[in-house]
Amino acid sequence: MPATIILKKGKEQSVRRYHPWIFSGAVASVSGNPAEGDVVEVFAWDKTYLATGHWAPGSIAVRIFSFVKCSPDREFFSKRLKEAMQYRVNAGIAGKADTNVWRLVHGEGDGLPGLVVDIYGNVAVMQAHTAGFWHIREMIAGLLPEVTGGLVTAVYDKSEGTLPFMAKLNPSNGFLVGGNGEPGTVVSENGYRFRVDWEKGQKTGFFIDQRDSRSLLGRHSNGRRVLNMFGYTGGFSVYAMSNAELVHTVDSSAAATALADENVKLNFGDDPRHRSFTTDAFSFMAGMEREYDLIILDPPAFAKHQTALNQALQGYRRLNALAIQKIRPGGLLFTFSCSQVVSRDDFRRSVFVAAANTGRNVRILSQTGQPADHPVNIYHPESEYLKGLVLFIE
Ligand code: SAH
Repeated sequence: MPATIILKKGKEQSVRRYHPWIFSGAVASVSGNPAEGDVVEVFAWDKTYLATGHWAPGSIAVRIFSFVKCSPDREFFSKRLKEAMQYRVNAGIAGKADTNVWRLVHGEGDGLPGLVVDIYGNVAVMQAHTAGFWHIREMIAGLLPEVTGGLVTAVYDKSEGTLPFMAKLNPSNGFLVGGNGEPGTVVSENGYRFRVDWEKGQKTGFFIDQRDSRSLLGRHSNGRRVLNMFGYTGGFSVYAMSNAELVHTVDSSAAATALADENVKLNFGDDPRHRSFTTDAFSFMAGMEREYDLIILDPPAFAKHQTALNQALQGYRRLNALAIQKIRPGGLLFTFSCSQVVSRDDFRRSVFVAAANTGRNVRILSQTGQPADHPVNIYHPESEYLKGLVLFIE
C-alpha cells in the first residue's frame, strides 16, 4: 500500500484542474511515513482519491504523474514513454533525416514531472530531478530502447547535478545501458553538425530547446554582421555562418568558445568570417561600437527562484538596453529568457523598458518559445520557461 496524503479543505481545487504539483502548505496529513521519492496517493479532505505521484519533503511535496488510480509499474511507465515517443513522431521531430538530436521526455510536459530524456543519435541522456525517478532510473533506462523502436542503444544517466542535494542519494553519472564510455558524439540539427559532450557539457550537452529559434535566425542573418552573445556550443553562430558577412561568438567560458570554434569548423572549415571571444558579455558590449546589425542575447537563467526575480528583471533590462543602444540602424535583436520564474509579460516589459531608455524606435518582428519536443502542459503554466523576442531596431 502506498503512503497517503490528505489535503486541506479547498486545496483539492488545483489538483482537480490537473496541476501536477502539490505544495507542502496544502497537505493536512501524511500517513505511512513516506521516504523521499516514494510513491504516494493523494486524497481530498473528504477522502476522495485525487492523484498519484512522487513524494519529496521540500516545498513541492508531491509531483503528480497520474490523476487516475494506477500501479506505477514497468507497464505504466512504458505506456507513458511510448506516448512521449508517439507525440514526437506525430510532431515530425523523431525520425527526421537531417536532425537526430531532440528531447524525448520533458518533465511535466509529458506527464513525467522530474524526468528529462534527450536523444543524441543512438544515445539517450537522462536526468532525474527527483528521488522518485532516480530510484527507478534502471527501469526507465531499460525501457528506452524498446519505446524508441530500437533507435536508442545506449543510455547515459546524468543526474549528479540535478538531484536535490538534501536527498543524499550520492548519484554518479554513467551509462546504465550499452555505451563504450564515450563522453559525447557528433549530432545533426537541420543538417548542421555539432559536437556534443554529455559528460562535461552543460545540461545534457546541448541546448536543444533553441532549435526553432536557430532556424529563424538562419533566415534573417543574410549579409549581416552577427554577434552571438552567450554562445556556448555556437549553435546560433553555425546557422548564421550559412549566409552572414561575419559572426562573432562571445562566452565567458573558454571551454564554450573552444566548442563554438570547433563546431563552426566542423561545418565551414577554417572560415575567417568567424571569431570567438572568451570574455564577459556585459563588458564586451559596454566596450563595443555600433559594429553589428544582428545581436543574439541568450543568457543563462538570471533567476532560479522567485526571490531573485527583481534582480533578474534588472539584469534583462541592462543587457537588452546595451544591445539596443549599440546595434546598427536597421539591426535585428534576438533576445531570450529561459528563467522559469520570469513570465512572458515580465520579460517583454523588461525589454520594453530597456528600449524606452535608449529612445530608439523598436518593433517586434517575431515572438518565439519552446519547440514541440519541449511541450507546455496547459495545466502547468510553469512549464513555459523559454521566451524569445525578435526586434527590429531603426
Ligand atoms: N545560446 C546557447 C546557449 C547559451 S547557455 C545555445 O544556443 O546553445 C548560456 C551561456 O552563457 C553559457 O555557455 C555560459 O558559459 C555563458 N555565460 C554565463 N554568464 C556569462 C557572462 N557573464 N558573459 C558571457 N557568457 C556568459
